[in-house]
Amino acid sequence: MKRFLKTFGIYIIIFAVISGFSLFLTRNKDSAPKVIPYSKLTSYISDAKVKEITFDELTITAKLDDGKKVKAFAHSALDVDRLHNTLLDKQSAEGKLVVNNKEQEKPSVFMTLLPTLLIIAVIVVFWIMIMRQQGGGKAMSFGKSRAKLQHDVGKLSFKDVAGLDEEKEELQEIVDFLKAPKKYANLGARIPRGVLLVGPPGTGKTYISKATAGEAGVPFFTISGSDFVEMFVGVGASRVRDLFDKAKKSSPCIVFIDEIDAVGRKRGAGMGGGHDEREQTLNQLLVEMDGFADNSGIIILAATNRPDVLDPALLRPGRFDRQVLIGMPDIKAREEIIGIHSKNKPLAEGVEPKVLARRTPGFSPADLENMLNEAALLTARRSGIAIRMDEIEEAITKVIAGPAKKSRVISEKEKWLTAIHEAGHAIVAQVLPGTDPVHQVSIVPRGRAGGFTMILPTEDRYYNTKGDMEEEIVHLLAGRVAEMLMLSDISTGASNDIQRATDVAKDMVTKYGFSDILGPVNYADSDEVFLGRDFTSKKSFSEDTANEIDKEIKRIVHDGYETAQRILTENKEKLVRVAEALMLIENIDAKQFVRLFDGEITPKELEAEVQSKEQDIEEKNKMEEAQFHKNIERQHAEEKLHKDEAKEQKSI
Ligand code: ADP
Ligand code: ZN
Repeated sequence: MKRFLKTFGIYIIIFAVISGFSLFLTRNKDSAPKVIPYSKLTSYISDAKVKEITFDELTITAKLDDGKKVKAFAHSALDVDRLHNTLLDKQSAEGKLVVNNKEQEKPSVFMTLLPTLLIIAVIVVFWIMIMRQQGGGKAMSFGKSRAKLQHDVGKLSFKDVAGLDEEKEELQEIVDFLKAPKKYANLGARIPRGVLLVGPPGTGKTYISKATAGEAGVPFFTISGSDFVEMFVGVGASRVRDLFDKAKKSSPCIVFIDEIDAVGRKRGAGMGGGHDEREQTLNQLLVEMDGFADNSGIIILAATNRPDVLDPALLRPGRFDRQVLIGMPDIKAREEIIGIHSKNKPLAEGVEPKVLARRTPGFSPADLENMLNEAALLTARRSGIAIRMDEIEEAITKVIAGPAKKSRVISEKEKWLTAIHEAGHAIVAQVLPGTDPVHQVSIVPRGRAGGFTMILPTEDRYYNTKGDMEEEIVHLLAGRVAEMLMLSDISTGASNDIQRATDVAKDMVTKYGFSDILGPVNYADSDEVFLGRDFTSKKSFSEDTANEIDKEIKRIVHDGYETAQRILTENKEKLVRVAEALMLIENIDAKQFVRLFDGEITPKELEAEVQSKEQDIEEKNKMEEAQFHKNIERQHAEEKLHKDEAKEQKSI
């Protein structure tokens, strides 16, 4: 608050000074003498209307008896002389008029400096505006921490956190400690100061931290590692200091540092000797963590996706010596998360959290929340009252593949190529025994992809077998193979497929030991190729082995290509059928795909069916809407009835 007042005060002063200047200027302009013709001035003088006259060479200023000031210009020095001789000398001798020989009101130093001062003021204002934009509104407080105190913590508690039972159990100890720090201090128990939450983005690290604070009923400070990394050297370190000062004042409390890897990377790593600013910040963080006493009541929770890149100093006892892994939710947890986040979102009949959980393997909690939100938006767009399954489906697709680009114009030729490509993926997925069933095939472009084929596991999977990986390669290459087979030409659209197929083959050989020739040996480089530290690290195998690895990868990819070619040649008819259906309706779902594959329906028949279904949906929408309005009318009628009743009672 004090800081706010200070900042505000400075703005007021600047504002006052500037408006003072302009006021001064305008006032001066008001009293500036009016310029009149020389002849008029002489007539004023001869009429004895002039009280005071001032000469500045040929410029004559006169003060009239009514207080006005006028100004005139003599044509030559002769005029001035003549004026003196004819009128002025006499009048001044009589004491009617004062004659000054030089401009008395010389512009003051202040006035000469005025333009400069104004320019400086403008620059200062600009500078403040720029700093405000960068500092998020805190122009005068560089170095002050941007930690935000969350006041709404009380709302969130462990019961809002779905799944993560073991993780909650681990954090429960911290909750107990924060509730009664004294108890622990008296027993001499040492509580961890820092807990590192490790997990991919969107899995709820921030969420569970907030819930921990809420559960314990303590304040929650949050700051992001990337906030620390500032453009001015030394700012990060002073931010850290300030943050801990704040936290100490409100202990017991939780300090949450998001993206700690942004400041906490190994020191001395990186090209060119490291990042000074970052290291200073990290050092300050270590100093602060060591500085506060064991049971000071401050617990630091930090989130990262990359614990392996953190400076080992951060992980030492007394710092972040405890790690809690926050993983992706399984089907049960997804169901609960969907339950929690659909509380204020009415779901239509048959749209159950259980069904949705089965449809969303691999979704993070953030993805699930996003999906529900997208679906709600779609429902709102058609003015519906409950979220329907088709809206959920669209939302799922959106979350997985990015929003559909309906506006992009695609030529028929391009469309056919995409249709063949995607049909190739789909047919192969259907034929391969171990590959997940086709869920959707589409040639509506999304994100950077021209189309997509979605295969979905019926259950969560945790392991990949050698066979799975080989099939994946076949599936990935099938798009390219289909192009080759049907169009005798290939497109660049498959480059991502080929990259991914190669990656899978590489992992098989170097990571999982699936190659018979190379055996179960790990040849993989460390995942993190961090410039600087690992820059000079040598591969742990010989040139010969490297050649061997390359050969194996090539062989695996080549085998996959041949398998895809065999499958698609054998199923050419089906391939064409699916591609033609894609040309007609662009999106094919799982059931439609199987019917096409089995030859139960022709593309044309499918198109007719889809069109009549669309009409059905439209009608259903209309009916739903009508029902909705009816309900509202009934409500109004009932309310009116109640009011009338109340009136009647009064009148009785
Ligand atoms: P992270 O910090 O790991 O990137 P967040 O904490 O920001 O992820 O989580 C993203 C969103 O997902 C949160 O806003 C929250 O609504 C939701 N969420 C995450 N975990 C859970 C959970 N266990 N139960 C319910 N919702 C969750
Ligand atoms: Zn593809």
